[in-house]
Amino acid sequence: MQIEERIAALKRERNAIILAHNYQIPAVQDIADFVGDSLELARRATATAAEMIIFCGVDFMAETAAILNPEKVVILPDLCSICPMAQQLLNEELRSVQRMHPEAETVLYVNTRAESKTLADCICTSANAPKIVRAMDSEEVIFGPDRNLGYYAQKGSGKKLVIVPEHGNCPSHHQISLEELEAAKKAHPTATIVVHPEVTPEIQERADYVASTGGMVRLVREIKDKELLIGTEIGILHRLKKEAPNKAYYPISTNAVCPQMKMITLPKILRSLEQEKPRIDLPPEIMERARRPIERMLILSP
Ligand code: SF4
Repeated sequence: MQIEERIAALKRERNAIILAHNYQIPAVQDIADFVGDSLELARRATATAAEMIIFCGVDFMAETAAILNPEKVVILPDLCSICPMAQQLLNEELRSVQRMHPEAETVLYVNTRAESKTLADCICTSANAPKIVRAMDSEEVIFGPDRNLGYYAQKGSGKKLVIVPEHGNCPSHHQISLEELEAAKKAHPTATIVVHPEVTPEIQERADYVASTGGMVRLVREIKDKELLIGTEIGILHRLKKEAPNKAYYPISTNAVCPQMKMITLPKILRSLEQEKPRIDLPPEIMERARRPIERMLILSP
């Protein structure tokens, strides 16, 4: 039996669902029950009747699924799949900034560890960051850890953001350079430029569209443009080609690869289903306190 068939059979036996992020390798995207961005995956995690969630993504995504589903078994097939940006936010630094800005509410990107989320008033994703920041009562908002998404959220909300840590960024997106963009434009001068808000402000300002990966999927289904330059982690190209195969997609940077997102493989998924581990296991008080700002996001951005 092929590995895909063994995974499908065990999934039925365990009453499991496989959720995968848009940056996962093609083979994983192809066997998943649902592929999406962080917001779509968080919503989907709350809407499943399955007893077990196999989460193909990085640590904070599986943690979010576990926090929203305390009664379910949530499995991350490789516990070393850890988002480096989420590690950049230190709780002590965040608390110190909160003490310096007592009136400001705190919005944290979903790309944070569960413990950091306990310090947030609300969570956001790249799909809803301006909307969530705008919805806060305070005019000044503490935001972290991605300074580039912070730029996008500040521009879209009109609020003053205090970014913590000051230089927080996603290494895979932050390294996409103006030189690479200029070279890609030269090679494909009529292509439409679509980028993720984790790229630098300089790149965002030169793009035709700034969108989350879920937003990119909707965009390519709708627009008539036939050639697109894509500025995000290159795993999205597989998804875009499946969703709208009649267009040409060119990565602005072929170096925009997140190694942590590529750690999940079919053999690891099969082993997870066989052994029912490794499970996400968070202390109940952390789950409880982290759930409130995530649920607030889901109410503000249904
Ligand atoms: S692409 Fe960036 S933000 Fe996403 S998991 Fe990788 S390092 Fe983290």
